[in-house]
Amino acid sequence: MDYERFFEDELEKLHENGKYRVFADLERHAGSFPKATRYVDGETRQVTVWCSNDYLGMGQKTEVMQAMKDAIDANGTGAGGTRNISGTNHNHVLLEQELADLHGKEAALIFTSGYVSNWASLGTLAAKLPNCIVFSDAKNHASMIEGIRHSRAEKHIFKHNDWKDLDEKLSRVEKGRPVIVAFESVYSMDGDIAPIKEICEVAKKHGALTYLDEVHAVGMYGPRGGGIAEARGLMDQLDVIEGTLGKAFGVMGGYITASERLVDFVRSFASGFIFTTALPPALAAGALASIRHLKQSDAERRGQQAAVAKVRAGLDRIGIPYMMNDSHIVPVMVGDAKKAKWISDILLDQYGIYVQPINYPTVPVGTERLRITPGPLHTDEDIGHLVRSLNDLWSQCALARQVA
Ligand SMILES: *Cc1c(COP(=O)(O)O)cnc(C)c1O
Repeated sequence: MDYERFFEDELEKLHENGKYRVFADLERHAGSFPKATRYVDGETRQVTVWCSNDYLGMGQKTEVMQAMKDAIDANGTGAGGTRNISGTNHNHVLLEQELADLHGKEAALIFTSGYVSNWASLGTLAAKLPNCIVFSDAKNHASMIEGIRHSRAEKHIFKHNDWKDLDEKLSRVEKGRPVIVAFESVYSMDGDIAPIKEICEVAKKHGALTYLDEVHAVGMYGPRGGGIAEARGLMDQLDVIEGTLGKAFGVMGGYITASERLVDFVRSFASGFIFTTALPPALAAGALASIRHLKQSDAERRGQQAAVAKVRAGLDRIGIPYMMNDSHIVPVMVGDAKKAKWISDILLDQYGIYVQPINYPTVPVGTERLRITPGPLHTDEDIGHLVRSLNDLWSQCALARQVA
């Protein structure tokens, strides 16, 4: 086989249908987020980032950076091993206690990313519970889908956020069979939020275990940043709450929180937890500082909500269509893959605005969009510039506007 030829042909196909991914080469500047330097064609340009998942700017918070520096000075760089073989650092232990407390659970377990936490936890639970059957929301993240697939358990997809469909499907399962219901709180592409209470009621009625991905909510919702379940007083209805340390907490890593036994079970059986080097102690220390800060400070959450409201108001004034939702995500609808890419390229090259286009298969064909994530560090000036730039491009591209 001509391997190189094969790779080339497959990549060519991606280019042809506009799915080839191009990364913006950025250097973020601590102290001036969301500003960054972009490296392009041997030159540098200043850009404002409008699609970061460092939602609250915690990646430049002085106390988080200081905690990481102090931890490097105290512990060195890497963990030095897997958790089992010399890699458990006191910072990991403290972080797990903090996370358990954040979600009102008995215990927590950290992983190298949110992706790994979903993949390893769902993969292990669904594989080991005898004859387990998994019910997965239609819009679940790839990490959950892959974890469930890896478990080889029987899987059924229920309609997105549709607890009635879930109820109907669950009522067909033989009594006594172990069931996991896996879903998210904030869905990252549409920004809509799950009816957690109803889904949990249905799941409990059928004796199922509930598994909630709060990746796009932790740090940002609830009085202590415990997520949507905290905000709605529902944390005790969930058997597993999963989250990331890499988005609103501004560092890296993932975790689950649950009962002591469930966590101990995943700790003891999950290959994706056991056979990999533990997170560097400095990451754990940084995440700990970030979580502790957001537990007692509301300023970042309020700043984010204010920026989101201002961006929406600006778009409303010029009739640019976006998907309305109850979260912090502003999906500006373009509805055409080529136009979405073109607008994003011009915004970056000519206006210094970085917002990645979101195309199929991440979203359905015809709903291509710019996913904007306003944060507490975007100024009124940044917001004005964004809205004026979109206004220009909407005219140039002859895109539809919304009449008020
Ligand atoms: C980003 C994401 C993850 C993965 O988290 P990482 O820490 O980035 O690996 C999991 N679930 C959802 C819904 C996500 O959007």
